Amino acid sequence: MTEDMIPVSPQDLMKFNCSCENECFNDCCRNLNQALTPYDILRLKHNLGIPSQMFLKTYTSLHYGPGSGLPIIEFKPNPDKGYECPFVTPQGCSVYEARPGSCRMYPLARAITRSRQTGEIIQYFALIEEPHCKGFGKETGQTVTQWLKGQNVDKYNKENDKLMELISLKNQIMPGKLEGSQSDIFYLAVYDLDEFRARIFEKDLLKKFTVPDDLLKKIKTDDEALLDFGLNWVKYMLFGVKMIFGE
Ligand code: SF4
Ligand code: SF4
Repeated sequence: MTEDMIPVSPQDLMKFNCSCENECFNDCCRNLNQALTPYDILRLKHNLGIPSQMFLKTYTSLHYGPGSGLPIIEFKPNPDKGYECPFVTPQGCSVYEARPGSCRMYPLARAITRSRQTGEIIQYFALIEEPHCKGFGKETGQTVTQWLKGQNVDKYNKENDKLMELISLKNQIMPGKLEGSQSDIFYLAVYDLDEFRARIFEKDLLKKFTVPDDLLKKIKTDDEALLDFGLNWVKYMLFGVKMIFGE
């Protein structure tokens, strides 16, 4: 499949409109090869009302980056139905309100850099024109910024950037392949949040640490706080980055 990447700026008009009237409706949810981020998984499992382990087992597959050893979670597509997403229906996406960040961004690609002066994140966008998608060239009158706002993708990007920061740290400190036990720590603390919580509160995973009571109380019930904690825990366990509390 050929595709073009066209750089666009936030002020440019978004010449793209997806609609269920398009003959390609749902084509973008087939032939799937889609990685999920920890925040995608958090939102999807909430939407479905199931624990992370059940979500991961039922809807995803796990493999490890051959050079990095990092766990990679992907949707488990259905080979009998054109490798379609487990959540696509004839009426469209059945988890639309909790669809992953990459589904929200499509057909835009996003890259980021951090300003050396201010530390602020600078975003760059490009339109990926794929031949099967008939949404291109259709004006909506919206700029790229307005279109992105309509997709409610900012929160996803903000959370996903934390994972990118962790991976970038890994590449600087430990550029080779993680060992099996290191990959397991990564998987547990950022992807399998309910199991991570169970190990903290039922199996005393943090017994070496003095964790403030208010933080413990928060991560007991708040998945987003637990994910932030998990990202920091991975930084400590794998790369020795000090956590905000003492050992
Ligand atoms: S292929 Fe493109 S236009 Fe068609 S449904 Fe998917 S995103 Fe929309
Ligand atoms: S989550 Fe929804 S939008 Fe994303 S690939 Fe699956 S069906 Fe399509």
